[in-house]
Amino acid sequence: VRAATTAPPAFTITRATAPRTTAERDAILSDPGFGKHFTDHMVAIDWTLDGGWHDARVIPYGPLQLDPASSVLHYGQEIFEGLKAYRHADGSIWTFRPEKNATRLQRSARRLALPELPVAHFIESIRQIITVDGGWVPSAAETSLYLRPFMIANESFLGVRAAHKVGYYVIASPAGAYFSNGVAPIKIWLSTEYSRAGRGGTGAAKCGGNYAASLLPQMQAYDNGCAQVLFLDGETSSRIDELGGMNVFFVYGTHKLVTPRLTGSILEGVTRDSIIQLARDRGMTVEERDVTLGDWQGGVESGAITEVFACGTAAVVTPIAELRGPDLSIGNPDAPAGEITMALRQELTDIQYGRLPDRHGWLT
Ligand code: PMP
Repeated sequence: VRAATTAPPAFTITRATAPRTTAERDAILSDPGFGKHFTDHMVAIDWTLDGGWHDARVIPYGPLQLDPASSVLHYGQEIFEGLKAYRHADGSIWTFRPEKNATRLQRSARRLALPELPVAHFIESIRQIITVDGGWVPSAAETSLYLRPFMIANESFLGVRAAHKVGYYVIASPAGAYFSNGVAPIKIWLSTEYSRAGRGGTGAAKCGGNYAASLLPQMQAYDNGCAQVLFLDGETSSRIDELGGMNVFFVYGTHKLVTPRLTGSILEGVTRDSIIQLARDRGMTVEERDVTLGDWQGGVESGAITEVFACGTAAVVTPIAELRGPDLSIGNPDAPAGEITMALRQELTDIQYGRLPDRHGWLT
């Protein structure tokens, strides 16, 4: 079911009666961490099969009331997004390619049999939360306000079918600098036992279930001194898919980047797409193709692969020092951050924070 209108809805605004004081807010913004603190308001829009999207509103941040029979609690019919708002030196607040998140949410909705939220509704929902809670966008270097739009099936019905009642929400959480002591290369863990996606599965959708399934291998990664899990494709277990929450790139000297092609089991990252563009702007060749473990190992041994990095909204661009697995080690755990990796990271954050011109029109 698609909403016929593309005009953004009018939002009603109900202000929190007891928002945090400026002093309380500033105390949080001085050391926000990640995902721990939330702003004073949230956005909600309801959807019903009969009435479509309606009742767009900004309301005080607070618990949702859910009937215990709500389908999201039983069958996991849920999708979400993640993007950031950045404060520029002149105090203005900008988001980065939010229309990409809007259309990815629509693709996720299709896969999870949820209603598609019109792009204009999504963009306006972001504008609304920033309008009421813009004071929560921190200004220290590399900080941001992380925005978390999500959609849940909240019909009270235990039959297994697409829900006839859905809620869309946006909450916001100030985020500190991901790397507070300089960018640190990470070690990643190869999961040989578990995969995150299979052919025809939900790998290309941003749905909660994918992340639930990644938690056990993620615990194994921590147990092995690694920060993230590398998943192989679920079919042949030889192609590299992605990390639990980031896409992966291989740097071939100064002339070429290689990243796994979008097979339907990989999440199409906004950062991934932006890195591809920035690399091409530099005159580099970018190949989206199958990459096997053997390609990685051989490339590192021959010296053809000079750097490896992961990318995503949370940590932007993160150098990968080593891939570890049972009886496997590729790379060097003490390797410093690569030059191309860091240059691409710098250029992307310079655009996001308004230190470089927005030549692709990526900022809203
Ligand atoms: N892959 C997965 C599985 C993710 O969860 C994310 C984070 N959304 C990414 C890749 C990177 O996507 P983006 O660059 O849009 O944050």
